[in-house]
Amino acid sequence: MPPGGGMRGGARGFLTDEEKANKPKVTWPLIKRILSYLKPYWKQMAIVLLCIGVSSVLGLLPSVLTGRIIDEGLIGRNLKMLITLILVSLGVTFGSHLIGVGESYLNNWIAQHISFDMRNKMYRHLQKMSQRFFTSNNQGDIITRMTSDISGVERVVTSTFTSILSNTITLICAIVIMFRQNPILAVVGMLVIPLFVIPTRMAGKTRWKLTQESQECSDEINGILNETLSVSGQLLVKLFHKEEYEYEKYKGVNKKMIRLNIRESMAGRWFMVIIQTFSGIGPMLLYLVGGIMMMKYDSDLTVGDITVLVALLGRMYGPVNSLLNIQVEWIRSMALFTRIFDYYDMPIEVDEPENPLPPNNLGGTVEFRSVDFSYDSERQILKNVSFKLESGHSIAIVGPSGSGKSTMINLIPRLYDVQSGQVLFDGVDVRDLDLGFLRESIGIVSQETYLFNGTIRENLLYANPEATEEQLIEACKKANIYDFVQKQEKGLDAMVGNRGLKLSGGEKQRISIARVLLKDPALLIFDEATSALDSISEQKIQDAIDPIIAERTSILIAHRLSTILAADEIIVVKDGEIVERGKHAELVKRGGTYTELYETQFKKALLEKEEFVPTETEDTDYLNQE
Ligand code: ATP
Repeated sequence: MPPGGGMRGGARGFLTDEEKANKPKVTWPLIKRILSYLKPYWKQMAIVLLCIGVSSVLGLLPSVLTGRIIDEGLIGRNLKMLITLILVSLGVTFGSHLIGVGESYLNNWIAQHISFDMRNKMYRHLQKMSQRFFTSNNQGDIITRMTSDISGVERVVTSTFTSILSNTITLICAIVIMFRQNPILAVVGMLVIPLFVIPTRMAGKTRWKLTQESQECSDEINGILNETLSVSGQLLVKLFHKEEYEYEKYKGVNKKMIRLNIRESMAGRWFMVIIQTFSGIGPMLLYLVGGIMMMKYDSDLTVGDITVLVALLGRMYGPVNSLLNIQVEWIRSMALFTRIFDYYDMPIEVDEPENPLPPNNLGGTVEFRSVDFSYDSERQILKNVSFKLESGHSIAIVGPSGSGKSTMINLIPRLYDVQSGQVLFDGVDVRDLDLGFLRESIGIVSQETYLFNGTIRENLLYANPEATEEQLIEACKKANIYDFVQKQEKGLDAMVGNRGLKLSGGEKQRISIARVLLKDPALLIFDEATSALDSISEQKIQDAIDPIIAERTSILIAHRLSTILAADEIIVVKDGEIVERGKHAELVKRGGTYTELYETQFKKALLEKEEFVPTETEDTDYLNQE
């Protein structure tokens, strides 16, 4: 009998309020869909079913043989028979466990393969999801679907399905054998079962409630650790001198956890006493009734028969308990599959065209034709935006913060699609171009540079895995980062740290410029950092970017005058609309948004920067006018 195991199983045997509220609708299409994942492995599954059936039946045989060992071997004083029966019983036990090993290997193999398929499918699907999906979903939720939900499927295959099957077979066989041995004693045995099962479930429920509480407590602890031990979190704690406060908070929750853990492990101990007493009642009752039948009613019942019935009764408690949880396990498994399928069914917002068109030219030209765009139904971000960027030219987009500059850029590599109007790249609507071609043709140096935790070399090779050492050095030189690389003890093999945190903002941005150069895109988009870089860093970035802009089609989201001046045309965006366009000298005199930006941002920055030396372009005339 497995009182401990029963208890632990019992703890999972209840649904949380949330699970009750979100019970999945089990429909035939859902079942069919689940089966479609099992179908490729049907042959292996058939073998598993056979193994479970055979090992469940073999597992009961020793209990039946015990009767014959007692009656024919011991009471019948037949040594040969006794030895034979003992050997058969041992052989059967060994055989049944051997089959169990095979079954468990095959079962795990199937579960791992199913989860391998599902994981890969999920990853592939998530890769196709749009930027909108990633900005509006919690990263933790996405990772949970990928990890624990799919691991849950493994558990369903390896344990839920198997245990339902083997327990049902064991129970049916045990009942049939018991009734064949003696119907009256079989009925007596059945009546005893609830005496054991009811207290077990009560104990399970108490324990389950405590488990829930301790889970919440553990989530709270994790939350505190995540917040206060993360790179930025610990910095905040240090700078606000909140160490004591955070320590006390942590200690408090930790203490709560200890109390809960102790209560959890002690819970049900009283019930255990009752359970164990009741579990003793079953066999005693069988001995008593059996004895009365033998002695008073002259039944042909033997001592062996009674022993078999007692042994079989003992074998029934576990399966009964576990089958009582079927409904809960079933709902959980279905909910798991439903959650995974919900993700699979999320529509791919930015999808590949079925028949991509070839580009009309290959110069990285961009055209916006009456583009309207909004992230959600509440607010329109871009309104009727139209402009054209010719091959080899450059455009600077300027405008107040939040005016929609980055949004415009996002539409070119199709991080989002327009609501109306068209974005054309190389003369073709971006939605008709091969997505791979489109994204390979565009290089973006974004404000928030993302570097993987690895070496500088690994980060650079991400753009072009075939790049030679010379090409890497060349790109670093052009991006003005080579001096920095040379100063590193390990050169290109220096680690950049978690998300590049070991580097300064300027260094990161220059590495990302080198990375884009290795990609050699037809169109370069440079989203200039708004955060203040020191003037040397700024100058280094400027020196890197200027020649690149001069030689290829580029769009610059500019915050600094020097960058603006490097562009062929300036587009001024305000509240999602292009309000002005032209060259610096004209715009600055116009007295509109650009003049305002110039007065409040560019000029101020210019005056603060004493070492600024204007480049000799016609656009710098305004300096002389002042
Ligand atoms: P900045 O110069 O500060 O970078 P910006 O001109 O580039 O600003 P955008 O980033 O294009 O401005 O944002 C335009 C508007 O769209 C802002 O009001 C912003 O709040 C909103 N926005 C940006 N990204 C999203 C998003 N993923 N979901 C919803 N709204 C967004």
